[in-house]
Amino acid sequence: MAGVQTARRLTFQPLTGKANRVSTPSPIPAGLYAQWRASHAAVALHDGDRVSPPPEKWLQLVWHHQRLRRDALKLVDGRRVRILHPGFHSCEGGPDFRDAVIHVEGAQPLTGAIEIDLQPSGWKAHHHDTNPAFGNVVLHVIWSRGAATSGRATLAMEPHLDAPWDELLPWLQAEGQPWQEEFLGRCCAPLKELAVDSRNALIRQAALVRFHRKADDLARRARDIGWDGALWEGLFRALGYKHNTWPMERLAAVVTGGHGRQKTDTALMLEARLLGIANLLPHESRARAGGTLPRHLQELWNLWWRERERWDEVVFPASIWRRHGLRPANFPQRRLALAARWLAEADFIARMETWFIDDGSATALLGKLQPKPDEHWSWHWTLDSTRLAKPQPLLGASRVTDLAVNVILPWFSARARAGRNEPLALRAKELGLAWPAGEDNTLLKQARIRLLGGGARGLESTAASQQGLLQILRDFCARTNALCDGCRFPELVKGISVQ
Ligand code: SF4
Repeated sequence: MAGVQTARRLTFQPLTGKANRVSTPSPIPAGLYAQWRASHAAVALHDGDRVSPPPEKWLQLVWHHQRLRRDALKLVDGRRVRILHPGFHSCEGGPDFRDAVIHVEGAQPLTGAIEIDLQPSGWKAHHHDTNPAFGNVVLHVIWSRGAATSGRATLAMEPHLDAPWDELLPWLQAEGQPWQEEFLGRCCAPLKELAVDSRNALIRQAALVRFHRKADDLARRARDIGWDGALWEGLFRALGYKHNTWPMERLAAVVTGGHGRQKTDTALMLEARLLGIANLLPHESRARAGGTLPRHLQELWNLWWRERERWDEVVFPASIWRRHGLRPANFPQRRLALAARWLAEADFIARMETWFIDDGSATALLGKLQPKPDEHWSWHWTLDSTRLAKPQPLLGASRVTDLAVNVILPWFSARARAGRNEPLALRAKELGLAWPAGEDNTLLKQARIRLLGGGARGLESTAASQQGLLQILRDFCARTNALCDGCRFPELVKGISVQ
């Protein structure tokens, strides 16, 4: 089949793809996991319930995920504010989020903590005003409108929510804090007793819940910034890999929206722009070892000098990036070099569509996303690091799995559903279910220990298995303690055993 060139065709053209189908009859009823989740996983609230004011923990989740109309935020005193980074949730007492970065209209960007209270009066009532741990709070976030009482910039959350409360509720119920400890769960025994194909089917259903949640998130963003914008934002976010998702997402908004780029921009120009705005270009004087600047860096500076003034307002504070603990392959500079090469391809999205309809394999996706070998980036981890002994690709196979299952396939699913193209929506789902497993990580290890006693015998070696385990952690484990108090999952699983 010939390649797909337009979004219109993706939305309405019937499917004639070649990917392997995985639609075998399920040993458990369709949608069983989603039913369980709706009736047993959530806290004691139902879609449509209105809680006023909501629990503070929910406000923290809204803040953490920035479920706010980010381009329209105004403080209670009327000044505009941009959230350059929402900060990192803190469980150690003190303010709710630390190391956030905000930019209030007419002032320099500020780094500091965020405190969230239901009422403006919470600041004094909770004695934050006399507690030195709250001295570096740069933004006091409250639920509904009210006067500032903290002496800090104050933002009311309710008027800025990005969706009606009824729409946010199911999402809030689905979110949770990742479970941190290793402990054998009470569901471990019933899951082990379950026939292997039933257990795999259950985990696949949980994976589908996760897949559709991601697709819904992308569809929601597409409502505001269009389908292309939502894809770029998702790709950048995925390249931010855990700690740098926020600045990456923000960069996507700046460079891919409005007049952020021109059709004539080369990969080098885009790389200079991204790194310049990100404040990740090593300063000339610092990088000039022995009097010479590495050639690639010199070329980037030559380009960035010409346009830096235009971007002055949006350049990030350098402290926004987290580098500690990152593997060299995940360094933000390297990720942005990759993103620049994708952005420079005028037909990037059309090529994704061709891949989706004509092929759909992981190998072909890696081929589409992997840029050509590069004189600098194939041989250096960063802009000013020493030359490597062996060339390294800009994109590794494990990152392709992350991009596919977290962004690209959910995005195709959301688009197809928006266009009422059931065959293409089905194709996105089936490719997601059959996608090969990605890299293992700590959370997955914990899930295997807690749910499966550490063993993976009979577990399908797919990304869907991994995603399904993570979803069960989020839906059930994150809502109770390490002793599984009150968790209904074990009895639900036992119910399958005796059906
Ligand atoms: S909390 Fe529930 S789902 Fe999680 S390990 Fe315990 S019994 Fe299993």
